[in-house]
Amino acid sequence: MNGPWKIAQQAEIHRAEWLAPVSAPPVQNGAVLTSGGRVVAAGPFQTVKKECPAGARTLDHGRAALFPALVNAHTHLELFALKGKIAFPQPGFRQWITLLFDLRASMGKDFAAEGLRLGEQEIFSSGTGLCGDITNGGAAARSGFQALERRIFLELLGFNLPSLETAMPPDLQIDGAGPIPVPHSVYSVSSPIIAECKDWTRARGLPFTMHVAEHFEEIEFLNGGKGFCRELLERLGRWDPAWKPPGKTPVEYLDRLGVLDSNTLLVHAVHMSDSDWALAATRNCAVVFCPRSNRNLGAGRPRIEKALSLGLDCCLATDSLASNLDLDLFAEAGHVLYSYPSIDPRKILEMITVKPARSLGRAGEFGCIEPGAKANMLAVAVRPGVNESSLAEALIESGKEGAWKWVSNSPG
Ligand SMILES: [Zn+2]
Repeated sequence: MNGPWKIAQQAEIHRAEWLAPVSAPPVQNGAVLTSGGRVVAAGPFQTVKKECPAGARTLDHGRAALFPALVNAHTHLELFALKGKIAFPQPGFRQWITLLFDLRASMGKDFAAEGLRLGEQEIFSSGTGLCGDITNGGAAARSGFQALERRIFLELLGFNLPSLETAMPPDLQIDGAGPIPVPHSVYSVSSPIIAECKDWTRARGLPFTMHVAEHFEEIEFLNGGKGFCRELLERLGRWDPAWKPPGKTPVEYLDRLGVLDSNTLLVHAVHMSDSDWALAATRNCAVVFCPRSNRNLGAGRPRIEKALSLGLDCCLATDSLASNLDLDLFAEAGHVLYSYPSIDPRKILEMITVKPARSLGRAGEFGCIEPGAKANMLAVAVRPGVNESSLAEALIESGKEGAWKWVSNSPG
């Protein structure tokens, strides 16, 4: 591909005013030694230099911080064609989903493949090295774009279907090497499919992800079987007349299905009671927050502080271009910095790097700068006078303003 990335087979030493590995404290006058697309050493420049083999190139990035490539835990790249087509904020989920269905119906058959091609470029150009990417089938295969690694989730629908097999798109099969089958949500997928998807991922040690407690209509439906979700299922011919509402919250319902564990990513988690949060923490779930998407759809404001206070692994993600203006995780981090002033900016940096890497099953490879990790790094500009305590906030500000560049990248 064209673009600012390369695989440096030879040893290179990258120096900058700061090294911000996220998984370890920042280092002033830091450096990273890379070779063959991997990090060999990281730390103070003088220390790393001693480990440097003869003939290694030194690249000085000046007044910047070396920072891991971003990890976006939840997006739908195949929806790229919807960029700029929906005005925000929408009045609510009901209005948004109606608009989304109309727009999708008007798109040509190649929209997903073309969306993937453009979406990969867009998300890479925002500094992302790994993403958790949801497809409904059109973007289930890997593309030739090697600068970005996608953890591909095949999202299944089927409220009135009895099994994973019956919910699979007819032209696709699942095996351990391909996309990971996951349910869309509790209101669009039957309980046997949800449980089977979890069994499938658990048997392979893979992450499981689904939209959970995103909007009030979901809560209303699971509690009493009524409201917009029911109307939607009836309209789509997906309603199951034998279904009885469980009278539970989405998190309680998923717990009853045996779905909640440390490899489960709860995406959105906007409408969560205190007991839902306690249950998610007891089960060690990870949470993926998409606060700009929630705001744009009028879905509400997720309680990120609550999840952090309970010690849950928290990630930030952009969701798709059907509910967000861009796929820029630095912009998402900037939103949290301003909208959640009580959250420590260092926690926000973890939510766009080390936490999503762990939640997607790629700890130690992505979202950090440490020996053995992929040498996917950014140099984020640092203004004069920044010290260790103000560095995290300064990095979010610079990132959001686009004051960064790729300095090295190895194919996923
Ligand atoms: Zn989504």
